[in-house]
Amino acid sequence: MKTFSELGISEAYIKALDENNIIKPTEIQLKAIPFLLEVGTDFIGQAQTGTGKTAAFGLPILHSVNPDIIIPQALILSPTRELGQQIAKQLFKFTKYLPKKIFVESVYGGARIDEQIYALKRPTHVVVATPGRLVDLLERKAINLSAVKIIVLDEADEMLSMGFKNELDAILSYTRGKRQTWLFSATMPKDLKEIIAGYMSPNAMRVQVNENDVINRDIDHKYVVCHSDEKSDMLFRFLESQQDSRGLIFCRTKAGAQKLAQELSYVQYNSDALHGDMMQKERDKVMRAFKNKKLQILIATDLAARGVDVKGLEWVVHYNLPEKSEYYAHRSGRTARA
Ligand code: AMP
Repeated sequence: MKTFSELGISEAYIKALDENNIIKPTEIQLKAIPFLLEVGTDFIGQAQTGTGKTAAFGLPILHSVNPDIIIPQALILSPTRELGQQIAKQLFKFTKYLPKKIFVESVYGGARIDEQIYALKRPTHVVVATPGRLVDLLERKAINLSAVKIIVLDEADEMLSMGFKNELDAILSYTRGKRQTWLFSATMPKDLKEIIAGYMSPNAMRVQVNENDVINRDIDHKYVVCHSDEKSDMLFRFLESQQDSRGLIFCRTKAGAQKLAQELSYVQYNSDALHGDMMQKERDKVMRAFKNKKLQILIATDLAARGVDVKGLEWVVHYNLPEKSEYYAHRSGRTARA
């Protein structure tokens, strides 16, 4: 098994990786890093959250940046604010020991655009953005993408299912021809194949990682057969057996998540809901409480839970089956992290 150093990652990064307990490259890192460091063509990685894909594209991006050029040289698109902030945070950690600083800025909807415009006026080498906000910034001429050499589409399937097709078309047309595109996606739905055919090289390198090996390794899967009207009783019995351990319950709809949150708080469970109808401020508040362990149980819809990366979760309940079967692995992967 190769080390990060053998994959071509330089010493300053290895030290930061060590500090974050990132010692042994994951499958996607083994396959992507040497290619992305060396070869100037497009890349398609079928991998999901939990496989280490952020470092798989993030480290080669950081290697490609020239710190002396102080405008964005790489652009990472992410479906949600939460995921975008996590990516920026990981990259920031990786840069800790660089002799010359590389600056990563994240911009996203649901926050003040004037502050982001101001932040982008400072030296910025890598931008992490949600598609809607990026288009807004481009229309206001508040961001200069003329030096961008690499665009990453992270969780590309999610960006499409959240309705960002037009924004992706606009951004990709705007930067066409001058750059490499690296795409990461857990699934390959039809509309994503159209993006690939329309904007990426037919010679793009394709890599697929076996998600079950990577993310479900340390998870026990169990199921209960019952009538739908026995479901909440079953859930309460399960929660009782778990005592104080923390976990995540997935519902299919916003209304379902809200209703279950009410039922749980009625019986005095320390729980709250996270769903797409909530204001960004409320979502942040709930996430903070969950991360700080002030909240024991989080009830979430699939989309709202994207990018949620909380360590120390002991269980995940699929209270409703996921809309798409791929979401099952994604949901389950929220437990047994690290
Ligand atoms: P990601 O799939 O990029 O969201 O990464 C999931 C988590 O795994 C993050 O908290 C990373 O810091 C961590 N991670 C990434 N690569 C490795 C590795 N090679 N060994 C251990 N942890 C890792």
